Amino acid sequence: MLYIHNTLTRKKEEFEPIDAADVRMYVCGPTVYDFAHLGNARPIVVFDVLYRLLQRLYPRVTYVRNITDIEDKIMDRARENGETIESLTARTTQAFHDDMAALNALPPTVEPRATQYIGDMVAMIEKLVAKGHAYVAEGHVLFNVPSMGNYGELSRRSRDELVAGARVDVAPYKKDAADFVLWKPSAPEQDGWDSPWGRGRPGWHIECSAMAEKNLGATFDIHGGGLDLIFPHHENEIAQSRCAHDGAVLANYWMHNGFLTVNNDKMSKSLKNFFTVRELLAHAPGEALRLALLSGHYRSPLDFSIEALQAAKAKLDRWYGALRVVAYEPYVDCNPPSSFEGALLDDMNTSLAISHIDKLVNNIHAKRITEGDDAAKNELLSCARALGLLYQNPEEWFKWKPAGQSGLSDEEINAQIAARLAARQAKNYAESDRIRDALAAQGVILEDGPAGTTWRRG
Ligand code: AMP
Ligand code: ZN
Repeated sequence: MLYIHNTLTRKKEEFEPIDAADVRMYVCGPTVYDFAHLGNARPIVVFDVLYRLLQRLYPRVTYVRNITDIEDKIMDRARENGETIESLTARTTQAFHDDMAALNALPPTVEPRATQYIGDMVAMIEKLVAKGHAYVAEGHVLFNVPSMGNYGELSRRSRDELVAGARVDVAPYKKDAADFVLWKPSAPEQDGWDSPWGRGRPGWHIECSAMAEKNLGATFDIHGGGLDLIFPHHENEIAQSRCAHDGAVLANYWMHNGFLTVNNDKMSKSLKNFFTVRELLAHAPGEALRLALLSGHYRSPLDFSIEALQAAKAKLDRWYGALRVVAYEPYVDCNPPSSFEGALLDDMNTSLAISHIDKLVNNIHAKRITEGDDAAKNELLSCARALGLLYQNPEEWFKWKPAGQSGLSDEEINAQIAARLAARQAKNYAESDRIRDALAAQGVILEDGPAGTTWRRG
């Protein structure tokens, strides 16, 4: 029996699928304008563990995770770079796929891209207008929040909080301060699509509602994403979809991962305290990043540090040492024992699951279980792979070295750090990021702290 914490009810509930023959899940995917940072990877890895678990429990799982490839941040970045949104999003989508594959995240069943669903978004907006839930004003189409009696059930915000949250984009044409955009006009030089309301582009929230409807139907089982998406994104997805579907529930279970933090601040582009997956992969194997992301409960904040990453790498060295003893297999066709699975069935208690593997590994090392012990091998591999780990041959694992093994001297590194600081002060973030990435590619990791930038060789 699977139990999951449902944000809608704020309770741990037994999971009961709508159709046990096909469990359906939607997770909000990335906005592809830049490299993913490790915080962005947390929902991908967390919901990948859930996807693997559901696949063991049910014959078929339809997992939809979108790519947001039209959004103002993408348009701004493409303009800055002097390239089309198509070339920017093609490159960053590829980088996202490569990075997530390095973290052993399985591809979702369907990966819809927003630009391929504009017609469905327009159709859904037209439905909302016809039903009196949306209105046209100055080339925009807005969702009218007071038209939905039970708006706000997911985030449980008061009217004052809703208005404060929506205040960021005050617009004179809004009927209500909490109303949000479904469609907005594009200037001639901006990307846009023809619509009944003129040439324009969709708002972010309607993108997910339309992609979910098309791929999973009006109602599905699980909807996931990071904690920061509860309001306004998921609240507005619910409003759009329920009002378009005569009140039908959008998803029965809502799941949200907590933040990855750095010194207790949310890792984010805006705070500039992030590490891209790309730069960290030069410093540690993807499985070590993945284990670090799974070391705490998915709903709790998780503080990231280079030390935590090194600890994850050291733990995997020990696990791979045990795998060497019992012998590596590329495929294992048994499920983990119930003593392990029980931890994951209890709202994905990955840290308990990891401690189960630790005990097994200690046993293998202590008892010097002889090569070819099939029971120990099957248990080790089935448990580790339930977490998406231990896919490599131990011999390859132990050959791993930080990329580049930098030949840079301390003086050269310090000069690069000074150049990066100068670029930042000149607000030339493209150049400062380039320097950081170039150093990372040579195995030098920068850490920005209150006392300035420090660095380590990978
Ligand atoms: P964004 O590109 O900001 O829309 O984020 C993509 C996904 O990453 C969303 O599900 C966010 O909730 C999630 N996310 C962003 N930053 C973090 C973080 N520091 N920790 C955990 N999840 C995050
Ligand atoms: Zn979404």
